[in-house]
Amino acid sequence: AGQLFLVATPIGNLEDLSARALRTLETVDYIAAEDTRHTLKLLNHFGIKKEMTSYHEHNQVEKGEKILQDLLEGKQVALVSDAGTPGISDPGELLVRSCHQAGVDVTAIPGPAALILGLVLSGLSTRRFVFEGFLPVQKKARQKILESLEDETRTVLFYEAPHKLRTTLQDMHQVLGNRKIVLARELTKKFEEVVSMDLEGAIHKYAMEDPRGEYVLVLEGQSESSLEARELARWEEMSLEEHLV
Ligand code: SAM
Repeated sequence: AGQLFLVATPIGNLEDLSARALRTLETVDYIAAEDTRHTLKLLNHFGIKKEMTSYHEHNQVEKGEKILQDLLEGKQVALVSDAGTPGISDPGELLVRSCHQAGVDVTAIPGPAALILGLVLSGLSTRRFVFEGFLPVQKKARQKILESLEDETRTVLFYEAPHKLRTTLQDMHQVLGNRKIVLARELTKKFEEVVSMDLEGAIHKYAMEDPRGEYVLVLEGQSESSLEARELARWEEMSLEEHLV
């Protein structure tokens, strides 16, 4: 029977491709890649010659059907994205769902996911966390999501591109006030850097220097005690208003 392999690939350091990932990429019938040119570089580095097809955000519906058909005919297919774990802020979810519906076996070859590295390197609570991925581009939608995080007590993780970092830090500060934030960039790469500061400090830092590389932003959750204090203040405000009418 056919099988789909979600194969995690490096997020910078090529040594992070696991032995099992390597063997899987070598033995499957073909590789479905987010960007075949990008994945070709990885394959060339490891001396793998393998048929590829593109599977990305914009063709995932039609291409997904084709891949599913191949899987149903007994083929073994590896799905890779440009970096990290497929399905995490990358295509994958839809194909996995189709496989489940069609009764096709799916397995995953584990490897890096930037959010997990950012989380464990942050020094913030790892016990409970939420992942928001990329904030929407549109201002209103971004604000709405940030507002929904005001009372969040879990650690919150975001992905961000360098050219949007300044705006994102400012929007966070505007909606959430000053909070502890850890910026983890270029993980596993030569210029890996993890800085722990607060939003005001981060805004100041990037007023002095240009954001460079890929970032995971790790925001401290609201502490239970300040959440209680805020709720109390809201309640007092409400009862005061009631009193006035
Ligand atoms: N599938 C990937 C994963 O498992 O992490 C994420 C893909 S998403 C399109 C790309 C984003 O992940 C980047 O904009 C950045 O926020 C984050 N990212 C990827 N590689 C990173 C790295 N080496 N260091 C820090 N963040 C990284």
